[in-house]
Amino acid sequence: MLHGKENIMVILSSPSGVGKTTLTKKIQQKYKNFKISVSHTTRTPRSNEVDGVDYHFVSKKKFKELIDEKKFYEHAKIFENYYGTLKKYVDETIKENDILFDIDWQGTKQLSKYTNLNLIKIYLITNKAELKSRLIKRNQNTDEEIKKRFNSFDEDILHWNDYDYIIINKNLENCFRQIEKIIEINKITPNISFQKTQ
Ligand code: 5GP
Repeated sequence: MLHGKENIMVILSSPSGVGKTTLTKKIQQKYKNFKISVSHTTRTPRSNEVDGVDYHFVSKKKFKELIDEKKFYEHAKIFENYYGTLKKYVDETIKENDILFDIDWQGTKQLSKYTNLNLIKIYLITNKAELKSRLIKRNQNTDEEIKKRFNSFDEDILHWNDYDYIIINKNLENCFRQIEKIIEINKITPNISFQKTQ
């Protein structure tokens, strides 16, 4: 049982293939008060993905309309597709729940500008060789996509400094334990800022 008064928003970012999706699901299973922010994307759904659960899959035209109507807190172009977080969902959900975001460094930078949001920013990293084998093993991308995702690693990790915590994901269980600690510290004693890297 956590006793923090304020609901928190936890961002998990990492280079593609580090294990974020699994960790996100584990957090949601353990902490029932956490809701995962379901993003909008123009990417085509993978065979195991469900519209409205994994993402809201929309056309480029619809995505552009949402940008023009200023409906997003943040949005970014990643691997030729667009991804974004709707303001409405976040503003309504945070009244009753903590929120977990699986978004990239571009989105994190944009969300950070809203200083009223109670953000905890976590960056997960793994080594490059491990990453390549994970990308291949998970079998969700074409060879071309794997190459693109692998090549974006160097650019992605340049942004680690924008985060409050950096975790090296050598082992998923250890990594999860560290995330548990971060959540519990921030829920129970939200004002202890020395726990963060910045
Ligand atoms: P994937 O295509 O593998 O589902 O996601 C690719 C990348 O997009 C991941 O790094 C993920 O964190 C990021 N992403 C997913 N949703 C959003 C979003 O709403 N905003 C931003 N900025 N990034 C997102």
